[in-house]
Amino acid sequence: MKHFRKELWFEVPVRRAFINITPNVEQCIAESGITEGIVLVNAMHITASVFINDDEQGLHHDYEVWLEKLAPEKPHSQYRHNGFEDNADAHMKRQVMGREVVCAITGGQLDFGTWERIFYGEFDGKRRKRALVKIIGE
Ligand code: ZN
Repeated sequence: MKHFRKELWFEVPVRRAFINITPNVEQCIAESGITEGIVLVNAMHITASVFINDDEQGLHHDYEVWLEKLAPEKPHSQYRHNGFEDNADAHMKRQVMGREVVCAITGGQLDFGTWERIFYGEFDGKRRKRALVKIIGE
């Protein structure tokens, strides 16, 4: 069995954003030389997510509105976690959107449905953060 590991780094200039990282993961699969196996992609921070959905700007706007209803960023004082930090909402948004995805690799490609794309969801940006890509297979 072969294995491959790589970190993807991000420095999002705003607090919240969704970034399509499908091409980055496809590049990792190509670099790994693995054609049949599994790829895990996970955020390495507790205020960021990795998830799969549609690459459609309207939907991403809807996510932002929905997540702000569930866990509004402000007022910061509404959260016990805040005080030393101001990112309680980011922890909660990440919890809803998930930590990781696991995808099948078949014939050297992501074995995806038509509209599936992998996203890095940033909820507390303006600093360097990373996601892990781990691939196993043959
Ligand atoms: Zn925090």
